[in-house]
Amino acid sequence: MDFRIGNGYDVHALAAGLPLWLGGVRIPDAEKGCVAHSDGDAAIHALCDALLGAAALGDIGLHFPDTSDEFRGMDSKILLRRTVALVAERGYAVGNADIVICMQRPKLRPFIPQMQETLAETMGIAPDRVSVKATTTEKLGFVGREEGVAAYAVALIHKAE
Ligand code: MG
Repeated sequence: MDFRIGNGYDVHALAAGLPLWLGGVRIPDAEKGCVAHSDGDAAIHALCDALLGAAALGDIGLHFPDTSDEFRGMDSKILLRRTVALVAERGYAVGNADIVICMQRPKLRPFIPQMQETLAETMGIAPDRVSVKATTTEKLGFVGREEGVAAYAVALIHKAE
């Protein structure tokens, strides 16, 4: 089997009064949301970079530049769908993905099952192939000061049969 793995990392600043999107899910009643050109979904952006990295296709900024009007305010699920299509064009299917979201507040645990379902559906794979984890940083650093959100992702792809 021809397996490839990739990793991705993304950060967005948080500001009051913006919607908070993470893992393709709108987090209700969040006091702050991501400052971004798109919807600012750092979890999806990290996942896209992991998938692109696995296929050695560059990064999200190369394919979906933040200078382009096309991607302004865009639902990041569209970026993820397009990323999976790019990987498929190279003859690869998504095996699984594992994502860590670092955020001090609010607690993300209640939304994780919905994120897994949403990301799996968007990538066209079973929900048990998508793992989402959330952690605080014990009030340390920019995440701990609630200035931003960070996300890490690892993805495995394999040659489609
Ligand atoms: Mg981003």
